[in-house]
Amino acid sequence: MDVSTIIAPLNDDQRLAVSAPMQAMLVLAGAGSGKTRVLVHRIAWHVQINHISPYHILAVTFTNKAANEMRHRIEELLNTSARSMWIGTFHGLAHRLLRQHAKQAKLPDTFQVMDSDDQLRIVKRLLKSLELDDSKWPAKQVQWFINAQKDEGIRARHMSQADDFYHRQMQRIYLAYEELCDRSGLVDFAELLLRAHELLRDNEDLLAFYRERFRQVHVDEFQDTNTIQYAWLRLLTEGNNNLFVVGDDDQSIYGWRGAKIENIFAFQKHYPEHGIVRLEQNYRSTGHILKAANVLIANNENRMGKELWTAAGEGHAIGVYAAFNEQDEAYFVVEKIRQWVRDGGLRSEVAILYRSNAQSRQFEERLMTTAVPYRVYGGLRFFERMEIKNALAYLRLSSNRDDEASFERVVNTPTRGIGAKTLDDMRILARERGVSLWRAAECMLGEKQLSARAANALQGFMNLIEAIALATDGMNLYETVKYVVEASGLIELYKKEKQDKGEARVENLEELVNAAKLFDYDSENAENLSELDMFLAHAALEAGEMQGEADQDCVQLMTLHSAKGLEFKLVFLVGMEEGLFPSQQAVDEPGRLQEERRLCYVGITRAMQQLYLTYAESRRLYGKDSYPRPSRFLREIPPEALTEIRLRANVTRPASSSPATLGSMVDQNASFRLGQAVRHEKFGEGVVLQTEGSGDQEKVQINFRNAGIKWLMLAYAKLDKA
Ligand code: ATP
Ligand code: MG
Repeated sequence: MDVSTIIAPLNDDQRLAVSAPMQAMLVLAGAGSGKTRVLVHRIAWHVQINHISPYHILAVTFTNKAANEMRHRIEELLNTSARSMWIGTFHGLAHRLLRQHAKQAKLPDTFQVMDSDDQLRIVKRLLKSLELDDSKWPAKQVQWFINAQKDEGIRARHMSQADDFYHRQMQRIYLAYEELCDRSGLVDFAELLLRAHELLRDNEDLLAFYRERFRQVHVDEFQDTNTIQYAWLRLLTEGNNNLFVVGDDDQSIYGWRGAKIENIFAFQKHYPEHGIVRLEQNYRSTGHILKAANVLIANNENRMGKELWTAAGEGHAIGVYAAFNEQDEAYFVVEKIRQWVRDGGLRSEVAILYRSNAQSRQFEERLMTTAVPYRVYGGLRFFERMEIKNALAYLRLSSNRDDEASFERVVNTPTRGIGAKTLDDMRILARERGVSLWRAAECMLGEKQLSARAANALQGFMNLIEAIALATDGMNLYETVKYVVEASGLIELYKKEKQDKGEARVENLEELVNAAKLFDYDSENAENLSELDMFLAHAALEAGEMQGEADQDCVQLMTLHSAKGLEFKLVFLVGMEEGLFPSQQAVDEPGRLQEERRLCYVGITRAMQQLYLTYAESRRLYGKDSYPRPSRFLREIPPEALTEIRLRANVTRPASSSPATLGSMVDQNASFRLGQAVRHEKFGEGVVLQTEGSGDQEKVQINFRNAGIKWLMLAYAKLDKA
């Protein structure tokens, strides 16, 4: 292979970055300018030209999806395997380090990663055992506080001595939380990062080993690193001047979770010998889309300042659609998607992007009704579903009895008559003796502290777990999962549950068994972990990114946050409303408003060929109706890049109508408007509620004053406008 395959597909500035001497480098550039491409080609360059073995290369990306894609592209460029290269997310890599050096990290070999949902449960339980009132100390807030401390690298014992009651109390909770996690071998997401940092910081030999191993370190989306992530990178690279980062200050969207744009400045200070490359040509989007993004983001202050241009033509103007309500919005979007597919496009080229997960439901329903396959990223992800978490809890417990979160989760699921009182006593005992719930249960049984009924029930549960552990010993992963799903009684439980819900749960459990079957156990990189433990870690860490059959052609639904770094030919940015996007909190805080604007910039710049922005004039969200104003971001986009879409020429908004039934009113041919007074030969006077279909299939629903609500075929109904 010759150099040209690495260099040829790059422009001059990109080449500069890829072929730079081995030194610290910062590539600072706007969306779609090829930063990720540069990173991939830089790595290939190191291997091919500088003869650095993949073994000596570390690359950090933002999602597992991005990591897989990167590995794939590097292998393609080099035409060889890059398996020995460490490439992953900060969390994934930290997890790997901790597994490999659990002892030095002061963790039990069997430690388990818990997701934020598990963490919240643990916090709730802790607050209870500390007898703190949930209304004064909301669990979510406590969880947030603890994670924020960890993101800053601060342990409970390191918290500065605060005088105020609030912080003293928080410190007390944080301490108790650390103790509980240590006791039960549980590691939350923030802890992964913090502990991986401490591991290297406090073990000189290890640090020396990894500094030697990772001769070149690469980071994508550098603008979204937080304090502890950057500190970890510095430990690995400082003095060696071998950190290569790419980023875009305009795409910093995780400030609310502790990310620091300032890391870009810190980098320049900490690596004085660095080079900087700026990229200005955008290869992703057409002119209108890029213009909209450029002008919008210019409203932010304190930017590092970049302009993007494109050699592509102007392309289609950005479509703006004002929907009646969220259902009409979904109707519009899905119709456009179906048109796209009819015109020969792929579904996977289409993305629906929204500000908050709760918005996905409308689109899912509409896509389902019209039988358009889709995949939701984020949200209630597969591994986060209740039934899946329950099954995983059985698996976890059978592998680690001290796993508190799992114990709590399934001790009484399916119900087996273990009462709240028994559990409370158990928690108190666990806390008093500094042992796990499982050990506390053993003590209570041994010391005969329980009524015969409670003792029986508890013993039954513990026997079940022991029996599962025994039975699955020697089984492979697939057999184990299949066995546990049955033996736990979960399948039976959900089969009894009513209708669709139970059915869907059973299907999901079957899907879990299927996932176990397909699980790709990479023993080379398993760090002494059993296949089951790898699978469990995978479930916690890669939650949202494994769902449905990967190879099916699906429309992609995700939040704006999870769309970072991706691109799609056709993009819908939905819910462009004040209070939703920008979110209400952001409207009240100028700093956050700028972050929302960056998020909008990220959204717009995902689109390659066609972008639609939609908003609803009335929206039902979180069970409440609202009549939001269009997002200010719409006004910030130059009008010449926009085109308004009017589908409802004949339909005006009724004074009082049920928003839930307006979905069909986008039909251009609807000849009666909502709320219109009509007269029928037989039924008398009435008011139009909704219409459906078109042409001679058009139906209207009318509320007749005397005859009640009726559906009529318009062609035969002989209606007069009253
Ligand atoms: P983001 O900020 O959104 O992460 P990015 O800067 O990482 O964007 P890439 O994803 O690397 O941008 O590139 C955007 C698109 O442009 C990709 O489809 C990529 O393949 C293409 N591209 C980048 N550089 C070139 C080039 N020199 N010639 C042709 N296409 C390019
Ligand atoms: Mg990128």
